[in-house]
Amino acid sequence: MKSHTQVAVIGGGVVGCSVLYHLTKAGWKDVVLIERDQLTSGSTWHAAGGFHTLNGDPNVAKLQGYTIGLYDELEKISGQSCGLHRSGGLLLADTPERMEWLKMAHARARYLGLETELLSAKEAKKLLPLIEEKYFVGAMLDAADGNLDPAGTTHAYAKSARIGGAEIYLQTRVKELKPRPDGSWDVITEKGNIHAEHVVNCGGLWAREIGRMVGLELPVLAMEHMYLVTDEMPEVVEFNKTHGHELPHAIDFKAEIYMRQERSGMVLGTYEKACVPWQPRQTPWDFGTELLTPDLDRIAPSLELGHKHFPAMARAGIKRIINGPFTFSPDGNPLVGPVQGLRNFWCACAVMAGFSQGGGVGLALSQWMVNGDPGFDVWAMDIARFGEWATRSYTNEKVRENYSRRFSIRFPNEELPAARPQQTTALYDVMLSQGAVMGDSWGLETPLWFAPKGVEPKDIVSFHRSNDFPHVKAECLGVRNGVGVTEIANFAKYEFTGPGAEAYLSRLMTNKMPRIGRLILTPMLNPGGKLIGDFTIAKAAEERFLMWGSSQAQKYHMRWFEAHLPGDGSVAIKRYDMGLVGLSIAGPKSREVLQRLTDEDVSKSAFKFMDHRAMDIGNVPAMINRVTYTGDLGYEIWVAPEYQRRLYQAIMEAGRDLGIVNFGMRALLSLRLEKNFPTWFRELRPIYGAFEGGLDRFIDLTKNDFIGRDAAMKEKQGAGKLRRVSMTVDATDADVLGDEPIWHGGKVIGWVTSGGYAHYVDKSLAQGYVPKEFAGDTKKGAFEVEILGERRPATIITEPLFDPEGTRMRM
Ligand SMILES: Cc1cc2nc3c(=O)[nH]c(=O)nc-3n(C[C@H](O)[C@H](O)[C@H](O)COP(=O)(O)OP(=O)(O)OC[C@H]3O[C@@H](n4cnc5c(N)ncnc54)[C@H](O)[C@@H]3O)c2cc1C
Repeated sequence: MKSHTQVAVIGGGVVGCSVLYHLTKAGWKDVVLIERDQLTSGSTWHAAGGFHTLNGDPNVAKLQGYTIGLYDELEKISGQSCGLHRSGGLLLADTPERMEWLKMAHARARYLGLETELLSAKEAKKLLPLIEEKYFVGAMLDAADGNLDPAGTTHAYAKSARIGGAEIYLQTRVKELKPRPDGSWDVITEKGNIHAEHVVNCGGLWAREIGRMVGLELPVLAMEHMYLVTDEMPEVVEFNKTHGHELPHAIDFKAEIYMRQERSGMVLGTYEKACVPWQPRQTPWDFGTELLTPDLDRIAPSLELGHKHFPAMARAGIKRIINGPFTFSPDGNPLVGPVQGLRNFWCACAVMAGFSQGGGVGLALSQWMVNGDPGFDVWAMDIARFGEWATRSYTNEKVRENYSRRFSIRFPNEELPAARPQQTTALYDVMLSQGAVMGDSWGLETPLWFAPKGVEPKDIVSFHRSNDFPHVKAECLGVRNGVGVTEIANFAKYEFTGPGAEAYLSRLMTNKMPRIGRLILTPMLNPGGKLIGDFTIAKAAEERFLMWGSSQAQKYHMRWFEAHLPGDGSVAIKRYDMGLVGLSIAGPKSREVLQRLTDEDVSKSAFKFMDHRAMDIGNVPAMINRVTYTGDLGYEIWVAPEYQRRLYQAIMEAGRDLGIVNFGMRALLSLRLEKNFPTWFRELRPIYGAFEGGLDRFIDLTKNDFIGRDAAMKEKQGAGKLRRVSMTVDATDADVLGDEPIWHGGKVIGWVTSGGYAHYVDKSLAQGYVPKEFAGDTKKGAFEVEILGERRPATIITEPLFDPEGTRMRM
């Protein structure tokens, strides 16, 4: 074993081998992989080997497409067969709702460049005669689906990595990881120590235990998973003979099973409701290549349905049953990237579909390590997306929920119940008593909308406009015509202090820092000029700045902030989390409410748009920003959590005779739509440049040098390819949700990022990206947006439909 290496990858499953290969491909040759036992000896060896591109997140779907395309390259480099069967796959819909979901997936596949086709049940039966047609309403064919040999594929990665210069040490367990002051690691193994500049946790079933070596409790849990292999089936033999090719894969959502051909029989696996975690506290180090005891009773409901839906399966003999564990994160997507708070420690774990995702994970992580950036949008699998609230028991509840719902539809207005409420503010019970329907916002219960007296506070889940529609409308009108109050505790809040704070923020942000008592809005860019943040910053004192941003991105942003801190201790950062909570009041009468709660002058001239002040509001010490995301006259009032209840009571009392209304996140998002305001992680993501995103007025290329300035300059001079656009959509009873294709002249040229119904202006709106040469086409109906399989006319609007001059915000 070497004594020093640039990278020590821990774990020789498919993911570790992919990371190793991609590091060599990216040019890092001095890299090693350390494996406790043999390659594949975690969850990899007993995988069913299926692969597909379908994923709820389009960026992960793209990475899955990359993985599937990679296998030919691996075979060529390594000379090792991956045992590929590119058979295609059918996704079978049993209900109209599932068919709508498939239509959405099909529409999304168009802009991702993936090959899918919608079929009737009859057409599906032609491709897969095992189907009992009457149980299905239709299907989607995904040409990219297939299966492979898990061990062959892992060895193909490993051989390719060795050819690229990597070394692999087998039968060598890593026992300890010790950080050095320079950020490198001493990797203590059973067979000696190795000094590594970087460590990558690809520990699969033991990823949690490797995390614990460095003080992390990773949100990852293994679940038992069963599939069975049938004896030879005459129906399969006959099909192969007459068609000359294999049967396609199939997913039967209703029965919660997946199926594929294996030799002359079939493989059938289930994601059963009565699922069972494996080793919820500690994975034993001596777990080897043994299998778990199968439990057919547990999967009996799925099998019964499967036998009805595919009668030939009921007649088939079972050759063997595999029950093996593999790992999941709380939302089912991988945990990839550098870990906030640790230097040179990287994760590529919780990869539940190693043969669909392993290649993409390896590519993303290697680029991140080598270039400082994953090279594309990996938010859906970024390890930073989970906060401290993702505890071991939270993970246990969420993983079980996720596993049991693997083949269930998640409706756009559906909030999942497991592990909730996790975090609540002091207003939780008050909000519930006022009819709030709550949603989960980065682990925090946040009001979505309010059911009036006599209306059940509950969402009816749907892809169409639903039961909240009239109530969200009433909230929007309440704000625009009077005044409303909403909880904003779910924003991210930070404080930057110290003599170096201003220079530090100026180097990170694209906009000039404000004067004391003022606010700015500012994007943050990576060196490539792509958007990695969008913030409101207040200068509270000479060496004190407050900042607000996206709640979901708190760890993502802290990781960036910490990585760029000056080494001289001149800047301190604090993430407030729930140490600072807030309420926002908005609407033309909001000033009146505020004035009733303070003896300070809050008139238009004394407390201007984009001012920041500290003042007592109804006896409560508060910080106030004169800005709101509603695009109306309004204020964000920030207080310590112990004052939030008192503040709310004071606001409600002061606003009672003015008709103050509660409004929730859905109304807030609707109000921002009619102002064309973008949202973080929808319109603003690391795949877009600031000018592409339409943030021109927040980019000051003449101020001091800042990260991403050169790239931003180039983008301004014409390098950017896309433009964010807002559109009215001629929708019927369903609005856009995000990820719908945008058509122009009969071709898909762009995609929707978000949208919905803008209640005050009474229009269905969408935001999205199109190539910039199309952005000027403002002809009525020049575009179409595909909603649930129907192409609806859409028209670009160049100005917000509400208050285009911005006079309301400044009144
Ligand atoms: C029954 C079943 C069916 C499946 N079917 C499919 C499928 O059809 N398609 C699909 O894509 N996926 C499938 N999977 C999931 C797939 O197996 C996983 O996604 C994949 O194996 C994850 O690979 P990994 O490299 O992350 O983890 P692992 O395979 O668990 O590898 C981790 C490796 O790290 C090593 N290690 C751990 N700790 C240390 C240490 N301290 N020192 C040194 N080495 C260490 C382990 O020995 C192990 O080899 C299935 C899983 C199961 C159980």
